Amino acid sequence: MHYWDPRIEEMPRDELRKMQYRLLKTLVYRLYSFSPFYHERMREWKVHPDDICSLEDIRKLPFMYKRDLRDNYPDRIFTASQDDLVRYHVSSGTTGKPTVVGYTQADLNNWTTSLARGLTSCGLGRGDVIQVSYGYGLFTGGLGLHYGAERIGATVLPTSVGNTERQIELMQDLHATAIACTPSYLLHMGEVAEKMGVSIRNDTQLRAGILGAEPWSATMKDRIEEWLGIRAYDIYGTSELSGPMFCECTAQKGFHVWSDLAYVEVLDPETGEPLPSGEKGELVITMLQKEALPMIRYKIGDISSIEDEVCPCGRTHPRVQRISGRVDDMLIIRGINVFPSQIEHALMNIPQVGDHFQIVVDRKGALDDMLVRVEVSPEAFSDKITDLMKIGKLVEHRLRNSLNVAVNVELVEPGSLPRFEGKAKRVIDRRSL
Ligand SMILES: [Zn+2]
Repeated sequence: MHYWDPRIEEMPRDELRKMQYRLLKTLVYRLYSFSPFYHERMREWKVHPDDICSLEDIRKLPFMYKRDLRDNYPDRIFTASQDDLVRYHVSSGTTGKPTVVGYTQADLNNWTTSLARGLTSCGLGRGDVIQVSYGYGLFTGGLGLHYGAERIGATVLPTSVGNTERQIELMQDLHATAIACTPSYLLHMGEVAEKMGVSIRNDTQLRAGILGAEPWSATMKDRIEEWLGIRAYDIYGTSELSGPMFCECTAQKGFHVWSDLAYVEVLDPETGEPLPSGEKGELVITMLQKEALPMIRYKIGDISSIEDEVCPCGRTHPRVQRISGRVDDMLIIRGINVFPSQIEHALMNIPQVGDHFQIVVDRKGALDDMLVRVEVSPEAFSDKITDLMKIGKLVEHRLRNSLNVAVNVELVEPGSLPRFEGKAKRVIDRRSL
């Protein structure tokens, strides 16, 4: 088994917890003393650094939200002066102001180290050619993976997003062995390659995908692996944590969250109580070593669970399961909670259905109305209306069973729904317009 830093990655649990407690205590004292934002918030919550006497006492600390970053735009939460910053990233806000993240040199080092461990844990290293097809620039994906891949001694092919045909030529000519991009972009690449007469499975050296920046289901993972002949690894992060941070190992059973860098809680979204290993709830993350933009108990809005058992790969750090939805992506349809990921999961289990779909929510009179537009797979696409009607009925039936709410289904031709080079935008909610 190959590790980037075996001393940390195999460290016994009790030692890891002692280390986390030390880091937390130092962090809380530092922020109480030097950050007006955290000082004020801890006073509001009536908690003092002296109240933190164990790792569990983290529950006494206040939460932090994305809106705190927007309200303090651009840099009022930063705890490093501009002299000490070596980079900014900016994430585009779909609503309101964007959020700005600053990095000290130590922040960049920790980010890169996290990815170096993760990429090594999925079997990559010197000799690999890693095509980075995440966007470069203000978005964290491109540069994050770029530095991580260089750190492990792999050769980086920094294609960024777009110009897909050229990407496929370069993938072949420079023998890319791994690609980092969104899962929906990889599916798009697979389709473009086939139109060019190239099979990614047979005509390239690609054997791994480092896929993230949007939610994707386990069934989509199976589909990608089967179709393209690669292992598809989940990578997780957001700009507020630094960027893409945590990656699945070869066991492919959730991504390892490095305990020296982060402390994860999973809380019941209703009661705020911590949930036991294996139960799904809201992820709350504390970054233990960030300097420029500290994050204590950040409510990231993602739904998942922690797997606490030591991983078959030997790493002692806890694993978080694939994200199964977002607290704020949740659609409420006639009073029932529906996650787009549930729809994806149900659709991916139907062989006659393609990889792309769109959800349109509208209100007819007083009632919510949900339409799911689904591409039929090229093999199942037929001119016979009766065949298509059968598929339509099947899709409707599966969706109703999985969501507990009636759904209208519209089948569309393969290739007719919009494709996305960044994050897929699958939901159109007309109710709010
Ligand atoms: Zn593992």
